[in-house]
Amino acid sequence: MVLDKLGESLKNTLDKITKAMFVDDKLINELVKDIQKSLLQADVNVKLVFELTKSIKERALKEETPKNISKKEHLVKIVYEELVKFLGGNGAKIEITKKPFTIMLVGLFGSGKTTTTGKLAKYYAKRGHKVAVITTDTWRPAAFDQLQQTAVKVGVDFYGDKGAKDPVAVYKKFEKELKAYDIVIVDTAGRDALNNELIGELNKINKNIHADETLLIISADIGQAAQKQAETFHETCNITGVIITKLDGTAKGGGALTACSVTKTPVKFIGVGEKADALEEFKPEGFVGRILGMGDLETLLEKVHDAISEEDAKDLGKKFLQGEFNLIDLYEQMQAMKKMGSLSKVLDLIPGMGSKIPKELLEDQEVKLDKWKYTMQSMTKEELEDPEIIDGERTERISKGSGMSTGEVRELIKQYKKAKKLMKMMKGNEKNMEKMMKQMGSAPVKF
Ligand code: GDP
Ligand code: MG
Repeated sequence: MVLDKLGESLKNTLDKITKAMFVDDKLINELVKDIQKSLLQADVNVKLVFELTKSIKERALKEETPKNISKKEHLVKIVYEELVKFLGGNGAKIEITKKPFTIMLVGLFGSGKTTTTGKLAKYYAKRGHKVAVITTDTWRPAAFDQLQQTAVKVGVDFYGDKGAKDPVAVYKKFEKELKAYDIVIVDTAGRDALNNELIGELNKINKNIHADETLLIISADIGQAAQKQAETFHETCNITGVIITKLDGTAKGGGALTACSVTKTPVKFIGVGEKADALEEFKPEGFVGRILGMGDLETLLEKVHDAISEEDAKDLGKKFLQGEFNLIDLYEQMQAMKKMGSLSKVLDLIPGMGSKIPKELLEDQEVKLDKWKYTMQSMTKEELEDPEIIDGERTERISKGSGMSTGEVRELIKQYKKAKKLMKMMKGNEKNMEKMMKQMGSAPVKF
């Protein structure tokens, strides 16, 4: 369906978040621009687009990131939540509350009323309801045959009075029989436009039928004009919801769908094809999840989890730049580096630095990290904060406590000293270091 294109571009936008190293103003601005572009291409109203992206931006900049998720996850979550809200929040399910439950479909010529009558009948029959359809379209001569054929196809009972002139009389004629059904779907006549004649006719039918749901059928190809139409029908004919049809065939689908979401009449179903089963209950959550590719969204959130958090990286950069540094920092930094990928690749980004790094620092990071962890767990706070005080006696004690050999403990201290020297070297190289951090911040750095 055409909205797939919208989903595709929104998905690409969210991918950018994953690939970026930091969530910063620049990324948020870029994201907001991308979302605007995608929605405008899908014919969504400019004002609505700006309202939506404004709230995404505001939340992204102001809202504190919840403790258990990263900034990136938070950003994805905000985009998802705002899109869902934009499309009507939790959705508006039709609750079948009584018997018979009457659903009347209204709308202009060609919007898809008769087709949708068949689709709805099939939808509810499949869910175990006893369904009947009735045509009150006494306006178009072929209306009777069209709905009768549709009813036969989907296997539900059909009522109508061929050649009748008064829609209310048709309904009255079968009213008693219709009481035997769980759900009665009433097809009505349309007009070219919502004129007084149509308003009068619909109100007269409604007064006699007391429909439990009056649904306006709107063809997606009218785009943003859907809003005005939904509002006018709401004011004059008391509609309770909208069904957008032909979402499979028009680039303006996004316009019609979102336009209705801001009216008092929620979109309850969408039509996505000519066949009888091309009808979907409209649930914004599922819809947004699907156009964004829920599977992808999940992978994305997982990916975001794995990536280094902004705070981690910022701390890392700051500590590097300031040369402030103890054993715990070294351990944390090695851990952070591991998350970012191979340390040597990170350091290769600093011109002229890659070759100066001691080989041992780059090898067996994982094994080393574990050994370090055990060793450090046996150290006192003072020792961790100032490893220079670790003499032979202390080394002995740490070795016993951690189960590491004295050689391994000494190795750790040696690594620490080397790293410290390296930090000093980098300190004289702050420009390059800053450049590296910036590079990691703006452009996706892939390891
Ligand atoms: P009515 O005048 O409101 O009763 O409209 P109809 O039900 O007769 O439909 C008008 C045309 O729209 C028919 O050709 C239908 O096949 C077509 N149509 C209705 N719904 C959809 C839909 O969801 N997708 C597509 N592609 N065509 C549809
Ligand atoms: Mg019709």
